[in-house]
Amino acid sequence: MDTEQIVLASRPVGLPTPANFRLQNITLPELQKEEVLLQGMFYSVDPYMRGRMNAGESYVPAFEIDKPVEGGVIAKVVTSKSANFIAGDVVSAMLPWQVQAIAPAKALKKIDETLAPASYYLGILGIPGLTAYFGFLEIGKPKNAETVMVSGAAGAVGIVVGQLAKIYGCRVIGIAGSDDKVDMLTKEFGFDEVINYKEVKDMNAAVKQICPSGVDIYFDNVGGEISDAVVKQMKRLGRIALCGQIALYNTEEIPMGPRLQPILLTKSVLMQGFIISNYQPQFSEGIQQLSTWIREGKLKYKETVVQGFHQLPSAMLGLFKGDNTGKMIVQA
Ligand code: NDP
Repeated sequence: MDTEQIVLASRPVGLPTPANFRLQNITLPELQKEEVLLQGMFYSVDPYMRGRMNAGESYVPAFEIDKPVEGGVIAKVVTSKSANFIAGDVVSAMLPWQVQAIAPAKALKKIDETLAPASYYLGILGIPGLTAYFGFLEIGKPKNAETVMVSGAAGAVGIVVGQLAKIYGCRVIGIAGSDDKVDMLTKEFGFDEVINYKEVKDMNAAVKQICPSGVDIYFDNVGGEISDAVVKQMKRLGRIALCGQIALYNTEEIPMGPRLQPILLTKSVLMQGFIISNYQPQFSEGIQQLSTWIREGKLKYKETVVQGFHQLPSAMLGLFKGDNTGKMIVQA
């Protein structure tokens, strides 16, 4: 059977372009025992994929040239040669960017569409939601009435972090890149205040003005100059959950920033990086808690859904321009 796939055509230098990807036709092999034929429904595009476009070692292997890009996908079972799946089941898995794909049954997880819509398993009930949940609770350790700052606040992770902070009784300040995002976060998602970092001339002054007595918890999704400014305003015994550094993903060399150690030292601030897979054994607990809060109306979610399998590369590149609010997803 023939299908389409998107491969990495070349490695980017700096910001990737559509020319780094190539669409091609392939013929799928015959389905073997314990394998399942899948039809992609929703594809996740995520900032960490940029790192996988580079050669070299990281915490996930690099994409290979001329091989399909892969990512989180929600797919429907077309044909199954496994007793665990039947045609029509909806599953989540790490899959190649293909319209149809064959996967071993053991790599698939059935999803429960009674808890939430299928696409939510790429967002609030998937890696972004779990990243917000474990990073904020395990590293941030929020206490009532503390001040929380979150960068990348209108993205898939940040929008959840802000709402968790409100559930825990904190004052929450977001940082995001447009006035529409500022409006949405304050009016729809309960953020107390939001800084539009693209409009602000002096980030240091803006953070100081909005948090005159300092920041207890900083959930860092972006790094760079935004984080330099927030770290300077950390309170004594503050906590920094180091989640992402998207502002640096397209730089060839990490720029020299201010030296932060004196601030961390003199204010006894804890800064901890994490990769969400560290918390894998607790994922089902996290999904249960997040879905309970969704059901109770305490957590809302937002998706930007781009239509068409062929749009995967441009949707991914859109993450670096702030095209998305909430989780960026491609619907086939
Ligand atoms: P998003 O959905 O937030 O998409 C990216 C957003 O980042 C954009 O919409 C844009 O919003 C903002 N952005 C892009 N470029 C810049 C820049 N140069 N400076 C500041 N903001 C920028 O992504 P996720 O919520 O999925 O991920 C957020 C972060 O968390 C990423 O850094 C990601 O790599 C990381 N992550 C880490 C995990 C872990 O295990 N540690 C797991 C999952 C994600 P705007 O309009 O505001 O600029």
